Amino acid sequence: MSQTLAVLGGPAVRTGQPWPRWPQPAPGAVDALGDVLESGRWSVAAPYTGRKPADRRFAAAFGDYLGGRHQVVPTASGTAALMAALEACGVGAGDEVILPGLSWIASASTVLGVNAVPVFADIDPLTLCIDPQAVADAVTPRTAAIVVVHLYSALADLDGVLGVASRYGLPVIEDSAQAHGACYRYRRAGTFGAVGAFSMHNAKLLTCGEGGAAVTADPELARRLEHLRADGRCLRTVPPEPGMPELVETGELMGSNRCLSEFGAALLIEQLKQLDAQNETRARNAKVLDDGLTEIGYRPQQTTPGTTLRVYFGYAVELPADAFTAAPSQAVCAALSAELGMQVRPIYPPLLASKLYAPSSRRRFALAGQLAKAAPLPRCEHAGRRFVTFHHSALLGSERDMEDIVNAFGKVLANSSAIQEEATNDG
Ligand SMILES: *Cc1c(COP(=O)(O)O)cnc(C)c1O
Repeated sequence: MSQTLAVLGGPAVRTGQPWPRWPQPAPGAVDALGDVLESGRWSVAAPYTGRKPADRRFAAAFGDYLGGRHQVVPTASGTAALMAALEACGVGAGDEVILPGLSWIASASTVLGVNAVPVFADIDPLTLCIDPQAVADAVTPRTAAIVVVHLYSALADLDGVLGVASRYGLPVIEDSAQAHGACYRYRRAGTFGAVGAFSMHNAKLLTCGEGGAAVTADPELARRLEHLRADGRCLRTVPPEPGMPELVETGELMGSNRCLSEFGAALLIEQLKQLDAQNETRARNAKVLDDGLTEIGYRPQQTTPGTTLRVYFGYAVELPADAFTAAPSQAVCAALSAELGMQVRPIYPPLLASKLYAPSSRRRFALAGQLAKAAPLPRCEHAGRRFVTFHHSALLGSERDMEDIVNAFGKVLANSSAIQEEATNDG
């Protein structure tokens, strides 16, 4: 028989050894930050100092990383990038925007943020990403855009979504907040939509604490994005005399201040240099987990065929169909977390069921009537109940660390009846 679960007082699978920390500063990070500190320019909106701002240097580096055809507009957050993307694509008051019913809250709050109406579409049960057929079914004459999200370690069915979008002439906004470096048909995620949006929040694969970027291959959209992130100003093509502002007030398009600080941009230039190596380590370890967990009955999240480079923001896995049927996944996660000394948790709940999704709590979203009509999303609901996940930092560990994870999942499965009993008693 297997040993008593740690959550019930038994010995844990893993004790004492720490997991890799996150974020991990790149070798050049301290110098890059010190350089900005002494430069006399902490914002792209500050006067020109005679040298290229970090904002421009990061935009060039990330643009190259994405394949060289995209302009990059750095932003204060992924949320800011998404809002600017929606507005750049002309989405506004009362428009409908189709998005997956399962994602981080920002995918939906940003639609509300531009006064549009989120229309949730169901997901593919294996990839957890939006189902192109569900997108097609959700299109109405009021649809103004489609937001596709690459979730955890999957790329969405871009061929399918882009096909529906072109059939109806709709712009696609590609929420790539969790997919830095991933490739679909050998091209980087984020470069398929009219605009790609990235987050460089603390938890993400490429981070400066708080930051983001909107990217596009369309020069007109790029110009709109620049105005939208910098209070209606955009960069001059030829720098001014030192001491003069580098942003010009065109009055073309009203914006908001969503600029990334020079510190964030300088840090991202350095962090970007280690992204590929970290993505490789994570993918190698994820393969070990896929094999080990599949063998004992778990079902790892899959990615869409056509994914040529897979990256892992989170490792997500479905519980075996015949186990834990009477226990909520929270109880399974508590048991796994206790065995491993790291947080394992249920994946995001469906957005409509998320306590963070509460448009009526803010008076600015005067859309109550339109928000009411929501179709049921059975695949989102099933996934929310049956998938669990943990952060990518664990995948930066050793193969030995992966064995601990597989052993913990195995031990918890072997004790499934104890967890069910415990959960029933508590309930
Ligand atoms: C993190 C995230 C965002 C928002 O990014 P922030 O930088 O936190 O504003 C949007 N969409 C998805 C899918 C995310 O994971």
